[in-house]
Amino acid sequence: MNAARKKRWKEVATGLSRRFCFPSGYLGLRHPFCGSLQTVMLLYHRVVPRAALPSICSLPQIVTPLEDFEEQLDFLASQYHILSLGEFGRVRQERRAMPLKTVVITFDDGWEDNYAHAFPALKRRGIPATIFLGTAYIGTAQAFWQEQLLHLIQVWRQRVQSGEIKAADARQLPPALSSVFLSSGVDRATLRLVEDLKTANEGTRSELREALAGILGHPSFPFRDNAFLNWNQVRDMHASGIEFGSHARSHRLLPSLSPSEIVGEVRESKGQIEDMLGGPVTSFAYPNGNYDATVIEALKTSGYRLAATTRKGINTAWTNPFELRRMNVNGGLFAGSNGHFSSDLFAFKLTGLR
Ligand SMILES: [Zn+2]
Repeated sequence: MNAARKKRWKEVATGLSRRFCFPSGYLGLRHPFCGSLQTVMLLYHRVVPRAALPSICSLPQIVTPLEDFEEQLDFLASQYHILSLGEFGRVRQERRAMPLKTVVITFDDGWEDNYAHAFPALKRRGIPATIFLGTAYIGTAQAFWQEQLLHLIQVWRQRVQSGEIKAADARQLPPALSSVFLSSGVDRATLRLVEDLKTANEGTRSELREALAGILGHPSFPFRDNAFLNWNQVRDMHASGIEFGSHARSHRLLPSLSPSEIVGEVRESKGQIEDMLGGPVTSFAYPNGNYDATVIEALKTSGYRLAATTRKGINTAWTNPFELRRMNVNGGLFAGSNGHFSSDLFAFKLTGLR
């Protein structure tokens, strides 16, 4: 079966399941018994208008088109109780029953497009959300290594297309990089490279980046299209009810750090957000979803009460508050056969059936 037919079949199947399961069938039965204990926590990163997608350097896995985001908000507002993370924490702490069909909206990293695009859409609808800030990047012109590397890969491809460099020039690059340009599954190879580099040290990452940048003549990074929030934007959103949590300071994978470095990451970021916003910060999201017992202990002793992972699943009253499950959202995940957002697919995923 070709990919388009397969996708169409998937849509038909999820449409049928939705009719049977949502909201009157499976969920109708499930919620009176255990629905009050379950919460879907959504994980967004970047929200960018479809027309602006070509100018950004992030992996598609962390990008949701604004048009899809607005449809998702309308769907959630009509079908779910949308709680702020703070309210979710209070309901749990006081052992009250969750409202039926509860969803919590979260964003990781602190991208500037959260302010430019997501915030107005949330504000117009009166929908709460929490943004987890990687504080070393807020209000600076720094970029994650991922976006810097992906930008160089984009520039390389553009120059090959325009004939400025030859495709075979990729053989001069270190093998980890040349595989990205010489393999047939280019996007998959890029994704694999980024995944491999997450556990490499900064020296290895910058060596690869320099090798590519050197050949390309050090092209400047497009900060404007890939910027993080500044503190004025954070304060402005906070004044309108958006909540903020910590996403550590440097966005390094916490289990790879020493215990004292971990404590530094979680305390410094907490202190900085508290100083800027004048209130307590008690929620955390693990950078890249990586954590272990030492990280959890550091969070507990630093005054955090909740921490969100990137593990898939639905939260119940029994879910460890330092291991909250989230459902990643991006443009590709809920795209129907026409390439655009499908509320059927979205509704199906929210049931937690798969
Ligand atoms: Zn992150």
